[in-house]
Amino acid sequence: MAEVDPVTPDEKDWTWTLTRRCEECGLAAGETDPLTVGRRAWVAAEEWVQILREHPAVEARPAPGVWSPLEYASHVRDVYRVMDGRLQLMLTEDDPVFANWDQDETAVLQRYAEADPDVVGAELEAAAATMLGRIQLLTATDFPRTGRRSNGSDFTVATLLQYFLHDVVHHLWDVTEQQDGAASLDWA
Ligand SMILES: [Zn+2]
Repeated sequence: MAEVDPVTPDEKDWTWTLTRRCEECGLAAGETDPLTVGRRAWVAAEEWVQILREHPAVEARPAPGVWSPLEYASHVRDVYRVMDGRLQLMLTEDDPVFANWDQDETAVLQRYAEADPDVVGAELEAAAATMLGRIQLLTATDFPRTGRRSNGSDFTVATLLQYFLHDVVHHLWDVTEQQDGAASLDWA
């Protein structure tokens, strides 16, 4: 296995994105109707698949310590999977504590840098379809259900969905640096 250069770890607590518009990607996640998150996350997934197919340097890191588009897309696929798992947990248990997810360790262990872009695209699309299906089945009584991260951040189903949407939209900005990506998702 080739040595993978480390990326600069992202240790920021991103829960502020639930209360303020993100100046970088442009999304006001906290104002997003949770009912629309499934569709919007699906549109974002389609943009990710397009990046994997068409990006001219999908495997290249744009700068030392910064993930390549392929690595970002692999991470985003796992965001869909992990958030769907957390959503399932919140719907079946009362106030569960989520298992820790070390994103940078996962990137190395899962060999994101060596992944096949076509495989990642298919997996990302499948994960998004699963999550969309689950979100479409939610009812009004589901949205206030709660869950917690081990660091003490409290979520409801509604805020988990908002947080999740920001994650996938923000990473589009990480790769494209275009707020348009988020803006085009900003339909009601
Ligand atoms: Zn953002």
